[in-house]
Amino acid sequence: MLKVGFAGLGIMGQPMARRLLTAGFPLVVFDLSRARCEPLIACGASGAESLEELAAQSDVVITMVPDTPDVESALFGERGVWFGLKPGSIVIDMSTISPSATVRFAQRLAEKGCEMLDAPVSGGEPGAQAGTLAIMVGGKREVFDKCLPIFQAVGKTITYTGPQGNGQKTKLINQVVGSLNIFAMVEGLRLANAAGLDLEATLRSVSGGAASSWMLVNLGPKILEGNFAPGFSIKLHHKDLRLVHELAIELGGDYPGIELVHSLFSSAVEKGLGGQGNQGLINLWK
Ligand code: NAD
Repeated sequence: MLKVGFAGLGIMGQPMARRLLTAGFPLVVFDLSRARCEPLIACGASGAESLEELAAQSDVVITMVPDTPDVESALFGERGVWFGLKPGSIVIDMSTISPSATVRFAQRLAEKGCEMLDAPVSGGEPGAQAGTLAIMVGGKREVFDKCLPIFQAVGKTITYTGPQGNGQKTKLINQVVGSLNIFAMVEGLRLANAAGLDLEATLRSVSGGAASSWMLVNLGPKILEGNFAPGFSIKLHHKDLRLVHELAIELGGDYPGIELVHSLFSSAVEKGLGGQGNQGLINLWK
């Protein structure tokens, strides 16, 4: 069985790494916060002292960190993954980052005889806990095939999307649709409130019809409870919309929805809401 090194044990990485352990993969873990490694070590993983050591002990290294510079520093920074990799090792980046930076990182890893897949995910913390994530994978087909058992341990809808970078591009499309769904939910609930409707009944009714969405079903009830704890933070969602915005500029064309959600999430961060879950977008109007 492939020996897996997992770097980045936050909201998503923690349950994903746990599922790999449960599926029987020998697991080595590392996070900048040692405390985040402890629960996994208690369940049978071994802890590495650095990313270099993690890579030296693994056939496949998974990164699940916040943003493009974090992946770059995890891979190529001081005592980073690069220094421990052996030719033939595979890096799977499951974070959501820039598609063009992904291609650059993959080229650099290839100089060392290593392969890279970009495999960002969708489905949030509940999907990571249940092992039902949607995973969008870019890279060589044969590398994807080799890593499929890893993806099957953490995800349900596993899609090969083509060459390196295509996984990230597919995830950015997911973020366009998801963000506009959040916006639609927030606008609908605000109008329902202004109209004096019973919000629970409204949510139940709309969730059961053609306008339902993952956002409505999972995040709508949290808004009604006043629960703005992050599953997916506004700060990270804004990061994704920055990447979407950059891609749209690069490709050209007219995308009013992208302009709208990018500007709303920017305002939410400026207003100090970055640490809230993305359902906290509604607090822009409070
Ligand atoms: P998080 O902030 O909860 O966790 C990130 C973890 O990475 C932290 O524990 C941090 O200490 C660690 N880290 C940062 N730099 C590191 C490094 N160089 N080496 C080792 N560890 C490092 O973030 P998250 O919500 O788990 O998101 C991770 C990625 O997954 C992001 O790219 C995010 O956009 C994406 N994502 C998140 C969700 C979600 O619902 N939270 C859903 C889909 C995709």
